[in-house]
Amino acid sequence: MWFRQDLRLTDNLAMHQACADACADSDALSDVENSKCNQGSASHDSTQKFTNNGLVRAIFFVTPRQWLLHDVAPIQIDFIQKNVLCLGQQLARLGVELDVITVASFDDVDNALINYIQQHDIDQVYASTEPEWNEVQRDKRLINAGVALTLFEQHCAIKPGIVLNQNGEMYKVFTPFSKRWKLLAQSLAFTPQALLLTDLPRRNQHASLHTHFSQANCQFNLSDDYPELPSSEQWPAGEQAASVTLHAFLNHNIAQYSQQRDFPALTGTSGLSAYLALGVISPTQCIAATLSYFPDVLHNDASPATSWINEIIWREFYRHLLVAFPRLSRGQNFNVQADNVVWRNDRDEFLAWCEGRTGYPIVDAAMRQLNKTGWMHNRLRMVVASFLTKHLLIDWRWGEKYFRQHLIDGDLAANNGGWQWSAGTGCDAQPYFRVFNPSLQSQRFDAKAGFILSYIPEISDWPLKSIHQPSAMLNQGMFALTSNSPHCATTSLADNHQGVLSDHYPAPIVDHQYARLRAIDRLSVLKRSR
Ligand code: FAD
Repeated sequence: MWFRQDLRLTDNLAMHQACADACADSDALSDVENSKCNQGSASHDSTQKFTNNGLVRAIFFVTPRQWLLHDVAPIQIDFIQKNVLCLGQQLARLGVELDVITVASFDDVDNALINYIQQHDIDQVYASTEPEWNEVQRDKRLINAGVALTLFEQHCAIKPGIVLNQNGEMYKVFTPFSKRWKLLAQSLAFTPQALLLTDLPRRNQHASLHTHFSQANCQFNLSDDYPELPSSEQWPAGEQAASVTLHAFLNHNIAQYSQQRDFPALTGTSGLSAYLALGVISPTQCIAATLSYFPDVLHNDASPATSWINEIIWREFYRHLLVAFPRLSRGQNFNVQADNVVWRNDRDEFLAWCEGRTGYPIVDAAMRQLNKTGWMHNRLRMVVASFLTKHLLIDWRWGEKYFRQHLIDGDLAANNGGWQWSAGTGCDAQPYFRVFNPSLQSQRFDAKAGFILSYIPEISDWPLKSIHQPSAMLNQGMFALTSNSPHCATTSLADNHQGVLSDHYPAPIVDHQYARLRAIDRLSVLKRSR
């Protein structure tokens, strides 16, 4: 069993099948009836026999160079490591040994896997599919090289390529996609019982009772010059922790989700994204658990759980798009018309955005949340993405990369989808002329500035109105504007970087009205395609 973005045992089809096949093989070898292997529920074609002595081994590849190429955030790598440790310990209890092997990149996985197969006399490799381009190419290469790799598609609750419009094509708009998705889910008899392989996989029959797995077995051999890994301890690792998080949310928060989900000062969302991104919990488990609390959620849009299930379906939508349009994995605009946008790409402004120094408290607090915790609230992801691409006219790919490099829940499909939605270059995107007003977003979603002040305490003595609308401070001459640029006029504050209030907080990097009109003008090349 080759674990990748499916770091769990429960509801892991590939692992279940590996164990079921090995168990059947083991039974054939020892001439014991199949009924002895009664700890699991996975179905098995007993005509298929393998010769690996009934043992399952597990493997996980650490690929530091690939992670750098893919901009995987150091905090996410730390979270991967902690989850691999939990997985190894669970596997040990099943008598399955997990080998954690460090190679540089996907290219090196080929040889390492082939050597491993020879060394351990492996008949069959089981794994879950990953939808991203490089991952798909790696698997194709291995299969072409003769590796018996059996793939199970489980990163979505409904497989990509099935939710299609009347022309048999992938939807390009979310709402009809989600309607079709729900219809299919009903016809596929989505019930908690039918959805899940709830039992743990069968244990290795010939393994010693407890195969030990410790921190020492879980070393990620990263080079000395590798970025330091910030601790992910705020997210307890392991599928048990993910399940506890899910059930706590379903018990206490889901009914208020639609009212609370947009307010970053509240804990109104599930906090499951880091687990979903690594497959520590599956979308199917999330849906099955929701159905057990709200059985009608798939056909009753008034269910208290509807909004939340819709977010899970957004996740599915972006993944189905990634599979249908592989160019999305390669950093291309979904809307080819967007290739004509001339981005300003000012490096200093980008840096100010990254570091939370734009002079817009809502934007800066959000970026500081990301830099400090590795996570950012969804409402704020939309606000800062809109600000970068529309107020500053910086290519969405710069923001996408920065997010990826810092997010504990970094996920190519959701991140790309979110960025292209915000920039107006994506599928079913925010129209180019709709430019979030940071002041209004701030007033609406953090009215008492509780969230903002938790990250920007230096402005706690500002009047509330100015926290939401920092230009009010500017009008009162409260900023010490040090820039002597002739362009420092009411139309653009872009040269006012060095303007500071009490040496602490910068003046707004650009005037909202000016930036809005500039964005609409510059992005109007997107108009023709809509
Ligand atoms: P909840 O609100 O509890 O939602 C439950 C789950 O649904 C999430 O865990 C997530 O898996 C999924 N989900 C929720 N909203 C979305 C969405 N808009 N698109 C796709 N899936 C969604 N999500 C990531 O998981 N990884 C990313 O790299 C990522 N980058 C984003 C970038 C931008 C610019 C934007 C606007 C959104 C991005 N999102 C990303 C989506 C969303 O912000 C996060 O999934 C959410 O904030 C995670 O918090 P939660 O688990 O508490 O979410």
